[in-house]
Amino acid sequence: MAETIALEGVEINSSHYINGERVGSDETFEVFSPIDQRKLGHVAQASTEQVGDAVSAALAAFPAWAALGAEGRKPYLDRFAEEIGKRTEALCQAEANDAGLLLSRLRHGIIPRAMLNITYFAEHALQLQENVIETKQATHRVRHDPAGVCAIITPWNSPLMLTTWKVGPALASGNTVVVKPPEWAPLSSSLLADAAHAAGLPAGVFNIVQGSGAVTGAALVADQRLARISFTGSVPTARTIAAIAGANLVPASLELGGKSPFIVLADADLDAAAATGALMYRNATQVCLAGTRFLVAESVRDEFVERMKDYVSKLRVGDPRDEATEVGPIIHPRQIEKVKGYVERAKAAGAQTLWGGGVHSAGELYFEPTMFAGVGPEDEIVREEVFGPVLVLQTFADDDEAVRMANDTVYGLGGVCYGEEAHATAIAEQVRTGFIWVNSFGIRDIAAPFGGRGQSGIGREGGEWSFEFFCDIKDVVIPKQPFKPSFSQR
Ligand code: NAD
Repeated sequence: MAETIALEGVEINSSHYINGERVGSDETFEVFSPIDQRKLGHVAQASTEQVGDAVSAALAAFPAWAALGAEGRKPYLDRFAEEIGKRTEALCQAEANDAGLLLSRLRHGIIPRAMLNITYFAEHALQLQENVIETKQATHRVRHDPAGVCAIITPWNSPLMLTTWKVGPALASGNTVVVKPPEWAPLSSSLLADAAHAAGLPAGVFNIVQGSGAVTGAALVADQRLARISFTGSVPTARTIAAIAGANLVPASLELGGKSPFIVLADADLDAAAATGALMYRNATQVCLAGTRFLVAESVRDEFVERMKDYVSKLRVGDPRDEATEVGPIIHPRQIEKVKGYVERAKAAGAQTLWGGGVHSAGELYFEPTMFAGVGPEDEIVREEVFGPVLVLQTFADDDEAVRMANDTVYGLGGVCYGEEAHATAIAEQVRTGFIWVNSFGIRDIAAPFGGRGQSGIGREGGEWSFEFFCDIKDVVIPKQPFKPSFSQR
């Protein structure tokens, strides 16, 4: 059976949350902290049957939750956000300890945003009223109907932010959810279940099943009663899920990885570009939207490298619970092995190390912020997502080459472009990605669309795009004249 996990004054329930109750499992899995690899405890591993129970509970809760309407659901969701806020310290401890996220960023950025992820969509669902299209023949009342039970599957690199970003619009638009948190960082989701319970969400509206992707995740996506699958994670898992969603004809939203360009034009403010460049190491670059391929105008390359090196040398790498830390650990020994593999192969292929390149003195799971130059367009380190603090730098001669290099990737998630504003904007418009920041990085408004092209995913989240995914659009057609049945009608 699972147990309670005690973390620096915080108790976290390690069971699932199904139909409004805590449910344990015979099988468990261990959770470790990336800070120092200490064991945090055992978490229940849901069986296929328990996943089925969670979907049954969500299905049973759906009609009443949907019937409440956006106005009826809003007070529940506002209370849910309030309860998340009350658990700020516990959520900080959970995500700093099991995901290795920076405590300062959790407290000041991620937790307020997680609350907004719930309240914003609860408020905006009120405006999801009917769209009325008037034609000569009829009135079309176009409705956003809730779809049903939604599976929410999230990765370990920012579980609280990504889970609430999906759960908020799913619940606000009248669906019920079964959440499958990441097995390397499941603890914040358990606290979300406490918050949902304390907010009085009806039993079955919000369910959590913990466990591995291979068992629990696979059982969830295979359940033919699902109405939607909302997934954030890696390309290989997305292919598996998409194949099953395709066979079952269940709409799936897929937010995947990236190898986003960070373009520095010759007319850029090089100091600002270099300072922002150093920011790419935040969360040890375990960030899907980070710019990881630096493309720098030949004429400013040396000066840019000098300036960025200076900013990087001042980064504070270490324990994420220390509010002064800027770069934390890599999530798991398996992940750092993957990062080391990329680094060794890049070096063997002749890449030049501009800085970093090895394990950091802060501990076994900490890797030095690293930059490689002398790399070619076909090199593995240029083409593949490392998901660790390893960046590459290439140069371009002119704008056409910058755009061509930026677009020479199977991915298409994000990008950054530094330069004189009109110039940088013109280049940004030609880069094939879901979003791109001009002279900035990381500005994400909840109302704006987020998502990728190519192998960075299918679908957009945020504002009305989230509702488009989580709702079934229905046209109720009311004729303006009495309808005369006729076989010759178009
Ligand atoms: P992953 O694909 O290994 O796992 C993601 C989730 O899927 C986990 O909860 C896992 O248990 C589950 N899963 C695994 N196999 C499954 C299966 N067969 N059926 C159902 N569920 C299954 O990804 P990860 O390593 O946890 O996360 C890192 C990846 O996520 C990176 O590629 C990163 O770029 C991407 N990511 C993308 C975004 C975005 O918004 N585009 C945001 C964050 C992370």
